[in-house]
Amino acid sequence: MPREPSSCGRARPALLALYICSGNASEMNNDYDLVVIGGGSGGLACAQRAAEYGARVLLAESHRLGGTCVNVGCVPKKVMYNAASLAEALHDAPEYGFSVTQGAHDWALLKRKRDDYVLRLNGIYERNLASRKVELARLRAHLLPPHADGRPRVQAGDRAFTAGRVVLATGGFPQQARIPGAEFCISSDGFFELESRPQRVAIVGSGYIAAELAGVFVGLGSAVTLVLRGDRLLRGFDSMLGDALQKSMGESGVTISCNAAPAAVRADARGQRFVKLTDGRELGPFDAVIWAVGRSPATQGLGLEHGGVACDATGNVMVDKFEATNVPGIFAIGDLNGRLHLTPVAIAAGRRLSDREFGNMVGRHLDYQNVPSVVFSHPPIGTVGLSEAAARAEFGDAVKVYNAGFVGMYHALTTRKPRTDMKLVTVGANEKVVGVHIIGTGADEMLQGFAVAVKMGATKRDFDDTVAIHPTSAEELVTMR
Ligand code: FAD
Ligand code: NDP
Repeated sequence: MPREPSSCGRARPALLALYICSGNASEMNNDYDLVVIGGGSGGLACAQRAAEYGARVLLAESHRLGGTCVNVGCVPKKVMYNAASLAEALHDAPEYGFSVTQGAHDWALLKRKRDDYVLRLNGIYERNLASRKVELARLRAHLLPPHADGRPRVQAGDRAFTAGRVVLATGGFPQQARIPGAEFCISSDGFFELESRPQRVAIVGSGYIAAELAGVFVGLGSAVTLVLRGDRLLRGFDSMLGDALQKSMGESGVTISCNAAPAAVRADARGQRFVKLTDGRELGPFDAVIWAVGRSPATQGLGLEHGGVACDATGNVMVDKFEATNVPGIFAIGDLNGRLHLTPVAIAAGRRLSDREFGNMVGRHLDYQNVPSVVFSHPPIGTVGLSEAAARAEFGDAVKVYNAGFVGMYHALTTRKPRTDMKLVTVGANEKVVGVHIIGTGADEMLQGFAVAVKMGATKRDFDDTVAIHPTSAEELVTMR
């Protein structure tokens, strides 16, 4: 459903200061151009962009600013990824002539420094809101039945607000184990609370989080068992990536248990955990069992029923391409609408929404095609566009694929020989590149520029016509035959 751009006439920058008030606002001040529920990646971006256009904005956040990404997601995860990468470098260093004495790794120190960094970010987000004059309600909020004039209404604490637009950006939470002994498992949230490194870890799941946490633990010295209900990792990705990662993990010592569906978890008197499988096998002992099988949208208590906001069968709030729900004036962005659970997606959706609704950018919305993403596994994976299987299903024999596989030059001097694998998926006589898939050192930093090329519709010829940068791994992407 196309949306008309808002005139946003109620709030102009010159008048803005009049509207900014404390939490004890009087009734007359409880009317906003935009109320955002959720101060995570999407909510913050949407609120700030709208305020930059002069909209009067209230943002409600019940926990720490920054949401999943900053507090229990991308940011602390990347710190842990970096730590595991350093461990790899320390392992390799003697082969480059360094004399390295490796003492024990201090997990507690790393956690303390990581937590301090996140706290600093929380503060920066709060100051960013203040500088843009976004009013912050540190409260849980929910929808109310609409105002008599049809405008959406929101309750936060004991205050009720009306708004020209309401943006729901409440994100999601980790799916919990629903088997006997679930209380002996933790999720990714629990991972970030670990005060010490468990020596033996089971990770149930085969997606982003399972792959990433396995790399962190094995890098820092834990024995890791990945518990896959199927027979492969990263099933939603190009099969080359999952196969290569599985092989690489096997080489670095991760035990991969395939066709292993957990039926129960138990703990013995010493606190050791055991995972009983549906086929009768039992895995263990483990010091920690981490459940990483996807996330669910945070809709509980959000009052969707008051507004009549529709959800799909899995509870995701249903939206059109403008992130608009079925209720006029109410939008849902980020993980809550279940399209792509990625921080830059939530941010881009939120900013575009505000550009359109408050910045007169008619028709602006996020294009969900060719969104690049990285799995911060060891080695990392970068992927954009169609997998080979998806391209063949759509384009049949018009698909042509180029592959490269090699050991990066860095490893010429090391005994560790992890491979890099790359795939270009092209379509048609002009070989338009519709997919780029990379696993190997540097893939995380390599992909962004190639994603621009794919988004612009580059062909294999364009790749070939780009002069290589030598000596790099990335050069293989422009020299494939
Ligand atoms: P969130 O960031 O989850 O924010 C929602 C906010 O709403 C929360 O702060 C919550 O407290 C608040 N809230 C909920 N209900 C209410 C209410 N009723 N009232 C007020 N406030 C409320 N993505 C990447 O792109 N790269 C990565 O490397 C990456 N790593 C990840 C690692 C992990 C372990 C996890 C779990 C996720 C990772 N993600 C990553 C995904 C990314 O974190 C999410 O896609 C992103 O945070 C979604 O943003 P959001 O705004 O939709 O929701
Ligand atoms: P994912 O969706 O990535 O993977 C979960 C996988 O677990 C499924 O694909 C499924 O694989 C398996 N699974 C599902 N249910 C069960 C079950 N009951 N028992 C055993 N296995 C099961 O979810 P994650 O939790 O790893 O991550 C959540 C989201 O967060 C991701 O989708 C991603 O968008 C985002 N994220 C992004 C990151 C990044 O950008 N680097 C990092 C971390 C998270 P199968 O069907 O093959 O069995």
